[in-house]
Amino acid sequence: MDDPSEKIETVYEGIPASPGIAIAPLHVIARGFSAPDVYEIAEAEVEHEQDRFRVALEATKRQLVELQGRLEDLSGDNESGIFEAHVMMLEDRSLVERVLAAIASRQQNAEYAFYAVMQNFLEAMRRIPDPYLRERTADLEDVAQRLLRNFSADADSRHGGPDGRHILVAYDLAPSDTASMNRGLVLGFATEQGSVNSHTAILARAFGVPAIVGLEGAVIDMTALAPAILDGYTGKLILYPTEETLARYRQLGDEKERVRSLVDAKRADATETIDGRPLTVSANIEVVEELPLVKRSGAKGVGLYRTEFLLLGSEEIPDEKFQFETYSRVATEMSPHMVIIRTLDAGGDKLPVEPLTEPEPNPFLGWRGIRVSLARPTMFREQIRAVLRASAKGKVAVMFPMISALSEVRRGKEMVLRCMDELDKEGIPFDSNLPVGVMIEVPAAALCADFIAPEVDFFSIGTNDLIQYTVAADRVNPHVADLYRPTHPAVLRLIKRTIDAASDNGIWTGICGEMAGDVRLTPLLIGLGAEELSVGPQQVSRVGHAIRSLSYAECAAMSDEALKHPRSQGVLELSMELARKRYGELLD
Ligand code: PEP
Ligand code: MG
Repeated sequence: MDDPSEKIETVYEGIPASPGIAIAPLHVIARGFSAPDVYEIAEAEVEHEQDRFRVALEATKRQLVELQGRLEDLSGDNESGIFEAHVMMLEDRSLVERVLAAIASRQQNAEYAFYAVMQNFLEAMRRIPDPYLRERTADLEDVAQRLLRNFSADADSRHGGPDGRHILVAYDLAPSDTASMNRGLVLGFATEQGSVNSHTAILARAFGVPAIVGLEGAVIDMTALAPAILDGYTGKLILYPTEETLARYRQLGDEKERVRSLVDAKRADATETIDGRPLTVSANIEVVEELPLVKRSGAKGVGLYRTEFLLLGSEEIPDEKFQFETYSRVATEMSPHMVIIRTLDAGGDKLPVEPLTEPEPNPFLGWRGIRVSLARPTMFREQIRAVLRASAKGKVAVMFPMISALSEVRRGKEMVLRCMDELDKEGIPFDSNLPVGVMIEVPAAALCADFIAPEVDFFSIGTNDLIQYTVAADRVNPHVADLYRPTHPAVLRLIKRTIDAASDNGIWTGICGEMAGDVRLTPLLIGLGAEELSVGPQQVSRVGHAIRSLSYAECAAMSDEALKHPRSQGVLELSMELARKRYGELLD
């Protein structure tokens, strides 16, 4: 653990999840009870803050004793014993002394010093394998929360939340936390949990916020307000950087900026290889707020609109009218380019469409994607009607996620036909040639791509899921992140098989997983025959630059070679070698 009074440069290593560099003080949100505001205090205020802690402590003990008395009157000794144990926790001298010492050494307000000490304590308890002791953490959290409330009466109102720019550090962040974070203030974030393909990381890249995930066991050691550098390229979080480190990172930031503006300058140019093979570079979006960014990026359409993000901030999927208005806005703003609207893919690591009566044992193998839509025809119908109506406003396609059987494709299409019929009768305009595509992201679908291809207008390979299901490594679990390899030979074979089945049937294949935005892999994906790459808005200009620097013939020869390679590392190196030769400036 770092000793905050020493303030020596300390480097924590995680997994790089979103590129970029952030330099700012930390704001820490640990697990469990909520963090109070944090602010620095002067040396002369230390004693006053220590007194504030003692007063809050005594008040909490008094309340607990009172509660105990009331409960004794109502029931028996057994129940009231809980509060006795709580009072004992607060009388633990080592805890009290640690808080007093933390106020002095960290020079932070009493609430925050107490919170930080408790978090350390709680985190240590959570790591104990004994289930009884682990359960006691909930009790301790309760007491801690009560004590924090007892501070509030005399809290210093000069200090609100973190009102300055900061790097957010948390045990974990849900995709909804990331989507709603204040992007003006959060310059970067780091979490203990998560991995590169979690939706939290995808959103970070979409918003251009540098991020690190999988900082295992590190948050416990972090002190709020500690000056820090977050390096989203290598996954390093550096606390108390020296002047020399700061200077190095400022220079690196400037260099990256220089390459970015060079690449951005050509973003409107056509994206075809040197030998004339055209590829569409489109953008993945989650929320309409990303549209200005997408339009500036030079993307030739939206290749994946993750509509399940409509569930953010509402208990249920919005009605047909709201969806129609939202999709129409995207279609109109992106016109004349195509917008591929994916039907709900709730579940997995994203919000469920409805509260589940009990948690699913394996959410990624459970109720998500087309499975939910087919089981909820009223909801599915509203979404399809909304998509169809929006197709009268711009170029729109619909796409089904998590297809694992041909029957799902057929049932999905039946709903499209039924809704077309209804709208026809109601005299409501729509595109009667609306393209219908499917995501190929389950190995079963890739293996049966030749059966599916004749039934649809396009494929979009969702490599995020395809990889996780092929190599049986959870995309959000940092413990298996090492096994999650986009260039695994099995993944390559599935991609190749899918693209071949599509071209045999005269339909096109795009790739919309995160792999599509990784410029180290652009030569491989072009060589395998992808015709569209749909990537995070921040990656559009980089991928466009990569395409314009490559020749299709060269990529195809390389990927033929890659398909014969037995190891993921070897495949990666083959693709990188070509990438480095043609656009090394993007890789360093
Ligand atoms: C994928 O699985 O690759 C994909 C694009 O879909 P999502 O990340 O939303 O699951
Ligand atoms: Mg997916």
